Amino acid sequence: MKINKSRSHIFVNLIYHPVLALGPDERIGLWTQGCSIRCPGCTAQYAWEFSDEFKMKIKDAAAIILKRAENSGCAALTVSGGEPFDQPYALDKLLFEVRRGGINDIMLYSGYPYDKLKKEFNGILDKIDALVDSPFIEGMPSPSHWSGSANQNMIILTKDNILKDKYASFIADKAAKRKLQVVSHNDKIYIIGIGDQADTAFIKSEFGSI
Ligand code: SF4
Repeated sequence: MKINKSRSHIFVNLIYHPVLALGPDERIGLWTQGCSIRCPGCTAQYAWEFSDEFKMKIKDAAAIILKRAENSGCAALTVSGGEPFDQPYALDKLLFEVRRGGINDIMLYSGYPYDKLKKEFNGILDKIDALVDSPFIEGMPSPSHWSGSANQNMIILTKDNILKDKYASFIADKAAKRKLQVVSHNDKIYIIGIGDQADTAFIKSEFGSI
């Protein structure tokens, strides 16, 4: 299965701010394009192919994120996809650039299990504050507002005590409701967030994708 080994280019489906439905508080969102995992029932199948229309220079992607941060004062980033770790060199460089530019809170969704990422990409994990790991499993609904299936875990990686508390509270908030955010960007409509499996199945049946 194809992955992106480029150290200069990254495939990006969307960079958007404000994101209010993927992690604690307000965030900038980056969705990578391309995924080799291909979970049955994935709601982001439009983000599976490494199509050239989504290819951009890493430094340009970092500049867009940092500009959004500068304009808004928001220094928190959530990375989703697609599968971010299917572009390991580009992801590493992008996270380095945005951290250097002032992003100080990075949460990332990956379909790979933590043990595999720890073994193969520990240097990238060092740049991430909280990881949601493992593939989406259809038919295994999650009780947690931050995950799509019950097998997925949120692993707090940060060494910053304030961020540790922030993510621990986010995980432990049993009263939190799932949020879906509908946004219009460049003449397209996007639904941002982690719906529960029944809701996303309904949206897919009505609209074809989510
Ligand atoms: S890892 Fe994510 S984007 Fe890839 S198939 Fe699974 S749910 Fe979809």
